[in-house]
Amino acid sequence: MEVKTSLLDNMIGVGDMVLLEPLNENSFIENLRKRFDHNEIYTYIGSVVISMNPYRSLPIFTPEKVEEYRNRNFYELSPHIYALADEAYRSLRDQDKDQCILITGESGAGKTEASKLVMSYVAAVCGKGQEVNKVKEQLLQSNPVLEAFGNAKTVRNDNSSRFGKYMDIEFDFKGDPLGGVISNYLLEKSRVCKQPRGERNFHIFYQLLSGASNDTLTKLKLDRDFSKYNYLSLDSATVNGLDDAASFRTVWNAMQIVGFMEDEVQSVLELVAAVLKLGNIEFKPESRVNGFDESRVKDKNDLKEMCELLGIEQSVLERAFSYRTVEAKMEKVSTTLNVAQAQAKTRHKVMGVLDIYGFEIFEDNSFEQFIINYCNEKLQQIFIELTLREEQEEYIREGIEWTNIEYFNNAIICDLIENNQNGILAMLDEECLRPGTVTDDTFLDKLNTICAEHQHFESRLSKNSKFLTDHSLPHSCFRIQHYAGKVLYRVEGFVDKNNDLLYRDLSQAMYKATHSLMKQLFPEGNPAKVNLKRPPTAGFQFKASVGGLMRNLQTKNPNYIRCIKPNDKKAAHIFTESLVCHQVRYLGLMENVRVRRAGYAFRQSYESSLERYKMLCKQTWPHWRGAARDGVEVLLTDCSVPAEEFAYGRSKIFIRNPRTLFTLEERRRAC
Ligand code: ADP
Ligand code: MG
Repeated sequence: MEVKTSLLDNMIGVGDMVLLEPLNENSFIENLRKRFDHNEIYTYIGSVVISMNPYRSLPIFTPEKVEEYRNRNFYELSPHIYALADEAYRSLRDQDKDQCILITGESGAGKTEASKLVMSYVAAVCGKGQEVNKVKEQLLQSNPVLEAFGNAKTVRNDNSSRFGKYMDIEFDFKGDPLGGVISNYLLEKSRVCKQPRGERNFHIFYQLLSGASNDTLTKLKLDRDFSKYNYLSLDSATVNGLDDAASFRTVWNAMQIVGFMEDEVQSVLELVAAVLKLGNIEFKPESRVNGFDESRVKDKNDLKEMCELLGIEQSVLERAFSYRTVEAKMEKVSTTLNVAQAQAKTRHKVMGVLDIYGFEIFEDNSFEQFIINYCNEKLQQIFIELTLREEQEEYIREGIEWTNIEYFNNAIICDLIENNQNGILAMLDEECLRPGTVTDDTFLDKLNTICAEHQHFESRLSKNSKFLTDHSLPHSCFRIQHYAGKVLYRVEGFVDKNNDLLYRDLSQAMYKATHSLMKQLFPEGNPAKVNLKRPPTAGFQFKASVGGLMRNLQTKNPNYIRCIKPNDKKAAHIFTESLVCHQVRYLGLMENVRVRRAGYAFRQSYESSLERYKMLCKQTWPHWRGAARDGVEVLLTDCSVPAEEFAYGRSKIFIRNPRTLFTLEERRRAC
């Protein structure tokens, strides 16, 4: 029988990769291309949504579309991110299952836009009322604030998030939002001091200088001219399509909605101004009697103004600067920031939305890429655990025959990095804490000895086989076979970046500020709380926060959005096959389809499927008296669905092919 549904239209390709015939990498990519050419940017792999960045605005995010997808079955309409959001929200509300939405993909693939679409969909369909609307507004307006301080123009993305974001949105029993908790991971702090060619500093600096009133700028002792500030790169100060002045007003507004008081906004801007001043301070060497050079501040005006903004005595700050010359280092750390805490004591339902950097493979990979890729290995592990293993285990639970499929379990790569005894991070920490001369090269020697020495004698499945040694390795490098491919890391900077030291002189000087926000930011500068213990390393902190995130995600029902970037030009209509192919590989999408196809594409409890399709059969309509399982059997037999198309589990019916489901849906609609 010919079924016409949006999922099966030859012109625009198939909407669910599970239906692709024949299935191989070429047909997979061809299908994506066909759909992309027809503005169909979403494609399913079962319940996973693949999202292609269209790089232009499509009329598919209107309030009418929201209404269309609201309360509809996942397979009823053409693939859309709204279908995923709807499904997640309804299982949260009606089945009391906490959800998480995991959005992955490389920079510029559309992760942040996707997270905003999910949030705005949920905001549109959940409860109404004055209080609820206020919470919704706060949740949505957290985005412009976070983006002003955490996003920047890069060569890959004009609005690139330079931090990972996880937001738990809490709902009450009715499904009305109560508030949210946002965690940030790995903010790229180094960008404040230095930006790669063709990139900008964080948006807020440009927004403030372009959009603030003259009066505000005077109070902040700032000049509107970007070129006055060392930290603001000149080659790409303005970005096509970005209106910094208008954004400033949006951000200002959003800060108030989120809950900043007017004087708090002012305090934040004072810090932004102080950072710009700090960037202008230059040092000159000054010889001392004992023959050593000491650094001195060259031109004192910026220093003076910075001190006035922060309420620090100039001599205190100058002394702190001069005793240890501060050199800005590449570093990334994690922070947690609360936007709103829900108050009620009862258990809340939670929807977590994760928007975090995808796998990074550059020509030159450093500590940052190492840490980001480690995080992606962990996410992949969760994906494997939750999706593939869950799938297999469910078949076993339901007593359905299942042939095991082989899949690559990346647990050994995670172990290579995070093992407490001899993982790479542990070895780096050990090196950082060891007395004596520690350099990046001594760290590398250690790695090479411990990870590589015995690998020829060990089985291919040992984690050491993922630490690759060969004679083509450039000097000072090591290579890891990640699940997404081989990555070459240069050890230069690993030790320093992992140490992430802020000299006590500086934190103590900052703590002396009368500016209360500034003071709060440097609690370790409090002389009453001198802690001689070494602060935890950057690697250690990151490992701990990733561990916490993983434990959190594991308690939730996962929903996946896999974002793909169609080209490197940030351009509409261009589909670069090689680029897409690369992403399809490292997102593990082919493997994902194979697992879905090896088994049954769809499953539903006997009760729900009977309820949904009972009108298709005289014996089950309007009521079936008896066990739901028997009712479903009567119904499917009556509809002449071929026996090999389904299997009866202990509590659910399993349907092999989504086409069968479409047929049932069609008939249901015709009733
Ligand atoms: P990522 O967070 O993955 O780095 P973004 O979500 O910031 O990527 O997307 C990069 C840019 O791509 C956006 O600024 C926007 O111009 C464009 N874009 C992404 N998703 C969409 C979409 N659904 N519709 C239109 N443009 C989009
Ligand atoms: Mg982003």
